[in-house]
Amino acid sequence: MSSWAVLVAAGRGERLGEDRPKAFVRLGGLPLLAEPLRRLDESPWVDAIVVVAPPEWEEPTILLAEEVGASKVSACVTGGETRAESVRAGVAEVPDDAAVILVHDAARPLVTDAILERLIGALGQGFDGAVPGVPLTDTVKRVRSGVVEETLSRDELVAVQTPQAFVASVLRAAVAAATGNPTDCASLVEAAGGRVTVVEGDERLLKVTTPADLERVAAWL
Ligand code: C5P
Repeated sequence: MSSWAVLVAAGRGERLGEDRPKAFVRLGGLPLLAEPLRRLDESPWVDAIVVVAPPEWEEPTILLAEEVGASKVSACVTGGETRAESVRAGVAEVPDDAAVILVHDAARPLVTDAILERLIGALGQGFDGAVPGVPLTDTVKRVRSGVVEETLSRDELVAVQTPQAFVASVLRAAVAAATGNPTDCASLVEAAGGRVTVVEGDERLLKVTTPADLERVAAWL
């Protein structure tokens, strides 16, 4: 049973306002990508890693993997225009005999073994996919042209994070059948009729989007 991680790091990260892709902004003295890469590499739940690099940043990505001693990195591929395209490029590098594919955003540096264990445990219970979720604290409304159409029942809503874990064959088929520009992989599996469960997430899996997010993650580090 082999478990492959696809680490998507090809986003531009324009909202950080830096002169480099988000994966290469500084976090604790190293490029941000170093943290999730090292954590996945050291995890007993991960056998091999495919890194999806920003265009023209493939070589620095490979050098960084060497620098942090990430010996499980099997391939580094170039990302696409959208996250969905980057996921597709990464999943294409996973060999056919892989049992599990974990897709993770490099922009969520603080991935833990506890999360990976919960996700892979859920696949062991027969689910096609598992995602970490955290309860919403704000009230959520559906709004059109500035006018509230509906207030949603918060009890039924969760904010979903990555890593997301899938039975490899199920994710591959869902990616092949995908249309549009989904913001996560689970929605592809759901659309293909797969059963996806939510496990307890972690507020520290915050996705770095703004300079303030970067500061929070740096403080947690
Ligand atoms: O853009 P956003 O922050 O939502 O991206 C989530 C993750 O997807 C990030 O780790 C980012 O590097 C990755 N991504 C990608 N290719 C893109 C866009 C985003 O690999 N074209």
